[in-house]
Amino acid sequence: MAERKKFKKKYCKYCEAKTDFIDYKDVAQFKFSLSERFKIMPRRLTGNCKKHQELVTIAIKRARQTALIPYIVDRKNVVENPFELIK
Ligand SMILES: [Zn+2]
Repeated sequence: MAERKKFKKKYCKYCEAKTDFIDYKDVAQFKFSLSERFKIMPRRLTGNCKKHQELVTIAIKRARQTALIPYIVDRKNVVENPFELIK
């Protein structure tokens, strides 16, 4: 149950920061909203509110289209921390 510990605190990070707009170019902020295979994390794990989850989803999909984030990760190329690759 190590994974459960990771998402112990459930609150909307974006509500706390009072952001109304999420920039798709700012890839580093998606760190908590993407899984290790660059999938969008569900709301039940991240604790985002519905409004912000929708904004995050749109931003991530835009970032994918602009090739900032890969769509899929190969099974062979699974890395421990994919965010080291993005800089
Ligand atoms: Zn929120």
